[in-house]
Amino acid sequence: MIGARLAGGATRSRPGPAAPASPRPAPPGPPDLLRASAITKIFQADGGQVPAIRGVDLTLGRGQFVAVMGPSGSGKSTLLHLLGGLERPTSGEIWLDGRRVDTLSQAKWAVLRRRHVGFVFQFFNLLSNMTVADNVELAALMGGATRRQAAQRRDELLGELGLRGRADAAPARLSGGEQQRVALARAMANRPSLLLADEPTGNLDSAASRAVLRLLGRAHADGQTILMVTHDARVASAAERVICLSDGMVVDDALMCPPGPAAGLTAAPGLAAPSGPPASPSSAALARVLRLRG
Ligand code: ADP
Ligand code: MG
Repeated sequence: MIGARLAGGATRSRPGPAAPASPRPAPPGPPDLLRASAITKIFQADGGQVPAIRGVDLTLGRGQFVAVMGPSGSGKSTLLHLLGGLERPTSGEIWLDGRRVDTLSQAKWAVLRRRHVGFVFQFFNLLSNMTVADNVELAALMGGATRRQAAQRRDELLGELGLRGRADAAPARLSGGEQQRVALARAMANRPSLLLADEPTGNLDSAASRAVLRLLGRAHADGQTILMVTHDARVASAAERVICLSDGMVVDDALMCPPGPAAGLTAAPGLAAPSGPPASPSSAALARVLRLRG
């Protein structure tokens, strides 16, 4: 739980009556890990204004594993950037673990992210002048790990993602799929309470996708909250909830059936291990997603 660890004591594990200066009353019980309320994002571009996110309300329960789907340009990456503090919403509010975060400065967001939020960018953003190993280790160190813990975490993640042999390579020497897995290892290095992953399997073959989904499944089992953008319905079926965006709005938000990481990890047809059970991503939610994707 990040509440107890957030700097400055601005968070409560349980909002009381004197809690956030939000226009909405605080819900009873522990706060959701993340709550976005009526957020919009309008980019100013050469050709005029681009409304990328148009009034999204979203709550993520603690420990939920949620997939975000939608056509290209529907606002998936923008939504993740807003929720991770990389962009500021044009309007609306974002609360992370009971603390309002859309108003934080970039510096405060940087501290928050370093400790509590893992981000896998669609285009990796690895540090090019560092080795693969250092990219991962640095993220762990910045998250507060000791040298020994950071080295251990680095080895563990690179091993799980099949990258041990690439530890000393520069990112530029890796394939797209390898870089993507390094980006995930880096994002997971500080064991973030919230993992925001933008197409983490976008460049991977099915064996590497399985490794990534195994890792995400384990993070989910450990209680981490995951929001993962994917264009692949089979990958989405690893999540317990699927949100669909279209034109910057949520057009579908449904729990998968049966919930839980194990379901998707074995049910995804193209991703099932050869010896695994037969594929059966048969939920109504997934069917709707597939219809939406045309
Ligand atoms: P997705 O990830 O679903 O493909 P994006 O979030 O990247 O979609 O983009 C949503 C919309 O916002 C698109 O029309 C895109 O062109 C626009 N957009 C995204 N980032 C910017 C930006 N920095 N400046 C201007 N327009 C942007
Ligand atoms: Mg995108």
